[in-house]
Amino acid sequence: MNKKTLKDFDFKGKRVLVRVDFNVPLAEGKVGDNTRIEAALPTIEYLIREEARVILMSHLGRPGGEAVDELRMDPVAEELANQLGKEVLKADDCIGPEVAEAVSRLENGDVLLLENTRFYPGEKENDPEFSRQLAENADIYINDAFGAAHRAHASTAGVTEYLPSGAGFLIQRELNSLARAIENPEKPYAAIIGGAKVSDKMSVIKNIMPRCDYLILGGGIANTFLLAKGYQVGNSLVEEDMVDLAREIMEEAESQGKEVILPVDVVVAEKLEAGSPHKIVKIDEVPEGWQIVDCGGPETIKKYQEVLGECRTITWNGPVGVFEIDEFAQGTMAVAKALAESDGYTVVGGGESAAAVKKAGVENEVSHVSTGGGASLQFFEGKPLPGIEALDDLEE
Ligand code: ADP
Ligand code: MG
Repeated sequence: MNKKTLKDFDFKGKRVLVRVDFNVPLAEGKVGDNTRIEAALPTIEYLIREEARVILMSHLGRPGGEAVDELRMDPVAEELANQLGKEVLKADDCIGPEVAEAVSRLENGDVLLLENTRFYPGEKENDPEFSRQLAENADIYINDAFGAAHRAHASTAGVTEYLPSGAGFLIQRELNSLARAIENPEKPYAAIIGGAKVSDKMSVIKNIMPRCDYLILGGGIANTFLLAKGYQVGNSLVEEDMVDLAREIMEEAESQGKEVILPVDVVVAEKLEAGSPHKIVKIDEVPEGWQIVDCGGPETIKKYQEVLGECRTITWNGPVGVFEIDEFAQGTMAVAKALAESDGYTVVGGGESAAAVKKAGVENEVSHVSTGGGASLQFFEGKPLPGIEALDDLEE
């Protein structure tokens, strides 16, 4: 990465504005899952040790540009204080006199959390005046919010116009891990691409295909490819307008000598809901009126295990079935376990895929599970991330 990082700054006594991704799920006024808070700790703890005055900001949920009490950052401040074992000050605004006052009272090593940046419409509009107001009380800006790096908002991009800037440890770790798999994969490399819709994943498929040896297509998107191959898929989720493109992709893959792996047996259900009648069928026996809900037949799982067992690099984006429903989670759980058992380099990106890895209980056995759903997807697409592009370049 040709961007400045924490090691390029002298933080002692400086007011350091840090964009973190504290967009955590809340349940009954408490933080429901603290993965994202934990992921931000290395940068925060480093800044405390370096005697910076640490000013943290994040968005939380979708308040729609106005203050919403349920989306205040107070529960986050509480959880962060627990994690750090240290007092975390909290401001009830993210710009203006209250923030100026709170920052002026900070001593070296203190931590202040600002209020939800999305309480102002200027955040999502990347408004220059709002960006300037965010920057006003700081000397240096650090972005460590990988999960928001695909957005060009005031707190992720606009603010860099007003302050010297660099990337935190989490962004560094995410980029290094994702790049190791996508840009420089040890071969053989298998890419598993699943999820609901082909249209969401077309750019990912196109970017990854030339780099990988095996393209495993599962989940809802497999249906459109199966249709393109002439199979009957009953009531399965399909995108008719993507069938031609799906055919072209498979031809392209073949001409590049890649193996495209589609399911050979699947779980079909009458309805896409828990408790619905379901069964395993061969791929050419999908009953009329039923739908494919899981690439989880025994032959398909065996094929996944064979291929993934031999690969030195595996990337996974998109569950291969409706894993949220236990009866339809077999294929996805098998993929998660195959990644865990691999001694190659294994990377998971995408919100639901990360949730599936957790459901399988193997998040610590995978080389890297990205903390950013949308951001990792955009990286898999080979597109730049505005929140990282905006940071100061390393001088030659
Ligand atoms: P990620 O967040 O990891 O990028 P996506 O958002 O692309 O993944 O897709 C995840 C969703 O795809 C899951 O919620 C899952 O239920 C759905 N899905 C997987 N297989 C099917 C299928 N056969 N039919 C309908 N939906 C599916
Ligand atoms: Mg998703």
